[in-house]
Amino acid sequence: MNEIDVLKKISSNLTDRKNSAALSNYRVLCSNIAFLNEAFSNAIGTLRLLHGEIASSLKNDALLNPQYKSGTDLNAFVPIVSRLQLNSFSVFEKLATLTTPDERAHIDLENVSALSRGFDDYNNLVTATRQYIDSIVSDSYQLYLLDPKSFNYHVLVSLNSFSKYATKSLAHALFNSEVESALNEFGTVKFKDWPKSHITECNHTTFAQKVDFLFSVLGAPSDPNLPDDLKNIFKFSSEFTHIGYISTFFTSTAGAEVIFGDDDGPYLPCTENFSELKYEILETACKALVATYIPSLIKCLERLMLKPQAEKIAASLHLAAEALCEAIASRNSKYYFFVKTGLIGSRTSIPLTCMCGVTRIWAPPHATTELYCDSCGSSFQLLEVDGEGGYVITGNGPVKIIGANGP
Ligand SMILES: [Zn+2]
Repeated sequence: MNEIDVLKKISSNLTDRKNSAALSNYRVLCSNIAFLNEAFSNAIGTLRLLHGEIASSLKNDALLNPQYKSGTDLNAFVPIVSRLQLNSFSVFEKLATLTTPDERAHIDLENVSALSRGFDDYNNLVTATRQYIDSIVSDSYQLYLLDPKSFNYHVLVSLNSFSKYATKSLAHALFNSEVESALNEFGTVKFKDWPKSHITECNHTTFAQKVDFLFSVLGAPSDPNLPDDLKNIFKFSSEFTHIGYISTFFTSTAGAEVIFGDDDGPYLPCTENFSELKYEILETACKALVATYIPSLIKCLERLMLKPQAEKIAASLHLAAEALCEAIASRNSKYYFFVKTGLIGSRTSIPLTCMCGVTRIWAPPHATTELYCDSCGSSFQLLEVDGEGGYVITGNGPVKIIGANGP
C-alpha cells in the first residue's frame, strides 16, 4: 500500500459508513443502561443531599478542626470545598441525563429512524463524558490535597487563559480587584515556573499523573483496569472533541441501515452500537465516583472537621458508594445453577431464576446460546448433578437442584 491507497481507504470510510455488526443483545443493553443510570442518578442525588449537611457543618466552627476555624488562613478552603462540590454535581447530572436508555415504547417500522444515532449524539455524549472524567479527577485531586499552592495553580492557570479572551463585560463581572491582584501576581511568574513558584505548585500536571497519584493515596480500585480505562476514555474523548477526524466516521446516512427487531419492536444497528458505548461510559463513570470522588471527599472532610462529625457524614457516603458497587456488580455477572442429570436435552422446559429476580424459561432444545438473563445480561453456567439429593450446600447456603424432588 502507498499513501494514496491508505488515503482512499480513509476517504471511503468517511463517506460510506459501514454498519458494524450488532454484537450484543440490544434489549439487555437497554435494561442494564436503565438500571445503572438509576443507580448513578441516585448516588448523585445522595451527594447533593449530603452537600447540604456538609455545608452547614462547615459553617459551624464548633465542628471544625482548629486550623480551619473562621479567622484562620486555611478557613479560605471552607467556601471553596462547598463550591467545588456544587460545580461537580452539575457536570455529573449532565452525564446522567445523556446516559438514559432509549425510549422504545412508541417505535414502529414507520418511525424507527427516530432511534438513529449519528454525529450529534456521539458528540454530546463524548463531550459530556470528557467533562465528567476531567472534573471528577481534578476535583478529587483538589479535595484530597487541600493545598493552597496546588489550588492556586489550578485556578490561576485557567483564569489566566480565560482573561485573555473574556469580553470586557464578562471580565468586569468576574474579575474584581482581588482577582486582578492575584492574576497580576501570577503574571510575575515565568511560564516555566508555574508548577513551582512562591504562590503556585503542581506536582501532577497531566491527567494521567493525577489518576496515578489518586490511586496511590486512596488505594487501588476494586477493578484493576479502572486507571487505564479512565486514561483511555480521556484520550478517546480528547481525540473526539479536539480533532474530529475520527468522529466523522460515526456520521451515517439516514435510511441506509438494516432494520433489526426483537420483542420490543424494531431498532437500528447504529442505536445498538451507541448504546454499547453508553453502557461502557456509564459503568466507568460509576466506578470513578466510587473509587476517586467519594473517597477523596471523605479524606477532605476528615481533614476539615472534628472526627465524630466527619465519621457521621462518611458513613452515609460509604453507603452510597456500596449501593453503586452492588448495582455495577449485579449486571453482566455469571451465575451457576445445579440441574438434575438428564434434564438438559429432554423435552422439559427448565426455569432458571436469576439473582436479579427474572426467570428465564429455558425451552427445548436447550440451546446454550440462550443461557443468559435478558434482564441483567448475566450468563448462566449449568452443573449437572447425579443422585437423589434435592439440594447442594454452597457458600451461600443450600441451593435447590433444578428438576430434583423435594420442597
Ligand atoms: Zn438477571
